[in-house]
Amino acid sequence: MTPQKRKILVQTLAELYPDPHSELDFKNEYQLLIAVMLSAQCTDKKVNQVTPELFKTYPNFKALSQAKLADVERIIRPINYYKTKSKNLIATGKEAVDRFKSKVPDTHKELTSLPGVGNKTANVILSEKGVVPAFPVDTHIFRLAHRLGLSKGKTPDHVEADLRDEFPSSEWRNLHHRLIFHGRRVCGARSPQCEACALRAICPSAT
Ligand code: SF4
Repeated sequence: MTPQKRKILVQTLAELYPDPHSELDFKNEYQLLIAVMLSAQCTDKKVNQVTPELFKTYPNFKALSQAKLADVERIIRPINYYKTKSKNLIATGKEAVDRFKSKVPDTHKELTSLPGVGNKTANVILSEKGVVPAFPVDTHIFRLAHRLGLSKGKTPDHVEADLRDEFPSSEWRNLHHRLIFHGRRVCGARSPQCEACALRAICPSAT
């Protein structure tokens, strides 16, 4: 993408989505980590349906670390891979209590040492906490990066590297949220609404 088009992309997305934020519901870092772990391969909407009961029952890492597996499974049953995720949530609760004083760690290495926390989840946490600039690539960003000609990467890691090269780190967090907004509202996987899309003039995939 040329610098001129890149500028238009950033400006247009900023005008379309002036308040970039996560669509997951959370009130603190503990809830952020748990919600992001649940959101892997699952919609934010579904996660937001189960977290009120989960956070009420287990308001912190200590409570979660002492949870019974069957109880957590019952609460998060609507979530994809709920059995594996239930095990990981409890194990992460224990690790957080034992190794991180019941806090969410601040480094990528520490985060990815927690059960069920991969590269993308760690980057989302770091980006939201504002500790380290990160550009997590989910399914929407992966799709839009290809359609907009920002990357030809075959894996999320490759796409993330291309996006980091393409934009200054100060833009990463906002662009991350804005591209997801656009992917959910306009540039859907099956039926992109190119005719109504404000990025049409700079998009090589516009139909
Ligand atoms: S023009 Fe079409 S393909 Fe390009 S970003 Fe917009 S909706 Fe997506």
